[in-house]
Amino acid sequence: MRRGVITRESVLKTVAEHDELGREAFLSKYGFGEARAYVLVHEGREYDSKAIAGVAHKWDQERALAPSEFSGGKDHAAAWLKRLGFHVKAVKNPDWARDEIILACDLVMKNEWRGLDAQASQVIELSALLQLLPIHAEADRNEKFRNPNGVARKTFDIATRHPEYRGKPTNGGSLDAEVLNEFLGRPDEMAEAARLIREGITSGEFQGLDLAGGEELDDDFSAAEGRLLMRRHLARERNKGLRKKKIDSVLRKGGSLACEACGFDFEEVYGERGAGYVECHHVVPLHEAGEGRTKLSDLALICANCHRMIHRRAPWPTPAELKVSIEHHRSAQRADSTGIVRQRSSTVERSPGPTP
Ligand SMILES: [Zn+2]
Ligand SMILES: [Zn+2]
Repeated sequence: MRRGVITRESVLKTVAEHDELGREAFLSKYGFGEARAYVLVHEGREYDSKAIAGVAHKWDQERALAPSEFSGGKDHAAAWLKRLGFHVKAVKNPDWARDEIILACDLVMKNEWRGLDAQASQVIELSALLQLLPIHAEADRNEKFRNPNGVARKTFDIATRHPEYRGKPTNGGSLDAEVLNEFLGRPDEMAEAARLIREGITSGEFQGLDLAGGEELDDDFSAAEGRLLMRRHLARERNKGLRKKKIDSVLRKGGSLACEACGFDFEEVYGERGAGYVECHHVVPLHEAGEGRTKLSDLALICANCHRMIHRRAPWPTPAELKVSIEHHRSAQRADSTGIVRQRSSTVERSPGPTP
């Protein structure tokens, strides 16, 4: 039994059997449920993609696959059918990503925190823009993806969560409220972030970013301004030529490559292996870093640990701010440990020895 080894022929025979039995009887005969994520579209009709792919096995393999033996999604059923040239469509569109919500929230703010109708020109324009955004794979979208109705609904989801709205909020998720709060807290910066995201989409600048890269996990890299600007930021920092220029210019001026936040020096700790190594962090905030070249003076030398900590939570501290917080934390710890020593000494009623 080999999963996924089916042919166009076997799928067509299965579709024919489905039509003959009717949907309900077909599904119950083979123990499948209704498709939740993807449907197969064939000659204008929609079929439960997982059931069709599973049953198709019975013609070429010895039996139909049971529902528990494979998934209906991108790894199995949907992928097999697509490979055979069938049209597979997502049942439900993907949830709105932070970047998309930022753009919608920007419209709502500019509309004095009221939702907009599907006929509004700003909604029609945003709908077209969102369809160009490279965040969601084509395969996960259906024909209603971010259409004007959906965009309009989202503007109401956001508007009805505004603290001054006196009614029941419409649906919407917690991310809507989160982005709304960012806008209420930093309206100018978030509006500027929205402008930069728009600019990046229309210039095609985001198309080249590796958005599927698994390295930058959302949990450990967070930016209020959204993923697109963050990816662009990280791509700029990783530019090897730029990093080399920065390092060379610091060395030429007789400076050291120690971390600007914690003082860690790769060569001091790792010897020859660490010589000449340090990371660069672009200190200009995302909402200010638009088109144009990164200046060497915008780059800070930073060790790998501090760099991670900066990007871990938004808003990102500058290296100088991180340095202050490291120092605070260290002195708080020192105070704590001397406190513990004193406490211990007093309980055993002995005079404390010299503290190291
Ligand atoms: Zn450091
Ligand atoms: Zn950085």
